[in-house]
Amino acid sequence: MTVITRFAPSPTGRLHVGNIRTALHNWMAARKGGGRFLLRIDDTDAERSREEYVEAIREDLAWLGLEPDGEERQSVRLAIYEDAFERLKAAGRVYPAYETAQELDLKRKIQLGRGLPPVYDRAALALTDEQRAAKEAEGVAPHWRFRLDHSAPIEWQDGVRGRQKFDPAQLSDPVVRRADGSWLYMLPSAVDDIEMGVTQVLRGEDHVSNTAVQIQMFAALHAAGMASPASAANMPHPAFAHEALLVGTEGKLSKRLGSLGCDALRERGVEPEAIVALLARLGTSLPVEPIADRAALIDTFDLATFGRAPARFDEADLERVNTAIIHQLPYAEVADRLPEGMGEAGWHAIRPNLETIAQAQDWWHLVTGPIEPCELSPEDRAFVGQAAAALEWGQDPWHALTAKLKQSTGRKGKPLFLPLRLALTGKGHGPDMGELLPLIGEAEARARLERAASA
Ligand code: GLU
Repeated sequence: MTVITRFAPSPTGRLHVGNIRTALHNWMAARKGGGRFLLRIDDTDAERSREEYVEAIREDLAWLGLEPDGEERQSVRLAIYEDAFERLKAAGRVYPAYETAQELDLKRKIQLGRGLPPVYDRAALALTDEQRAAKEAEGVAPHWRFRLDHSAPIEWQDGVRGRQKFDPAQLSDPVVRRADGSWLYMLPSAVDDIEMGVTQVLRGEDHVSNTAVQIQMFAALHAAGMASPASAANMPHPAFAHEALLVGTEGKLSKRLGSLGCDALRERGVEPEAIVALLARLGTSLPVEPIADRAALIDTFDLATFGRAPARFDEADLERVNTAIIHQLPYAEVADRLPEGMGEAGWHAIRPNLETIAQAQDWWHLVTGPIEPCELSPEDRAFVGQAAAALEWGQDPWHALTAKLKQSTGRKGKPLFLPLRLALTGKGHGPDMGELLPLIGEAEARARLERAASA
């Protein structure tokens, strides 16, 4: 069986940490199974969906390296939902209802007041043809509900949560279509999962009760003649897995974190590999490690390692992983984002000092100059003057110079190294001098030492 997963965002905003995680896990499941990962744009809500977000979602996925193997859009599939709806109507699985939002709200309040669960009472199902006709004559357009089958419990084996069981009588018949004819998420999603041969639905645990309802929709749609493609032909419904939600360090994912968009992360210098490495393992029993090799992450991806407790997302972890990832990145992967003239040796010299790649610019100034003037004591000025005279250019000028000066002056440790670093870079700390000095070059290094000596 070909594994087919899908990521189904509504284009009402940028991708953020929460839905990047869902996309990533679906991508990983598909890659691990050698299958396909689909992007499905859930844009039946014309009012809230925006084209700019559709584009942003595509861009963000490409930036994250989670490119889909195919893209579908619900807004161009309305005729298919219409057909499915007609079939369900003919089979008596959807029915018109006429209550207003206020009436429904009142019913719920009364139920809650009596200590009862606020389950829809199916009053609309009991209407006679005459009563319905009367409503329509009054100009009340119906919304439509899916009629749940109460005859047996709904059960499935969840990939993360284990055995799940729901009593359908405890659930409201869900509204699938609004009075204006527009679709709610539930039915089109089930129709698409059948039509697109989706074999595995991996999403957040906020969807668990939707799954119970959708499992009955899958059965009703199959019974009404909707056929699955070969990939999923023998499945009554996709395999479901619901992962625990992400929370921040204070126990719940703050608005800011929850909405921390891909664009904001990118601007802050967070590398896609860091996001992937963290989110791949967060909430699992595997350790979060700065693994830049996706194949290695995919290899260890296993729903059995996912815990049921909320996964803690800590920005400090993301920064730590990001730094460690940057320290591993090969030159070829970053070359087009480095300052002009900075080659492989420059990258290797500077990489260990970076928290973001943008910082390479600042450190590269130490090579290209002009550097900040430094203030040295008279003794240190004399010392760097000696260094200017002693400088010889060979394989490893820094170690040759410091060895020579150590011998001639008796200096060692900080008094030996710090004045030289200050004179050569204008800074008291920075990249390894052994790697930096050859990049500065002989003439410029001598000039800097002489300048510091005479300042
Ligand atoms: N558009 C739905 C959402 O973003 C999709 C949920 C699903 O994966 O089925 O919540």
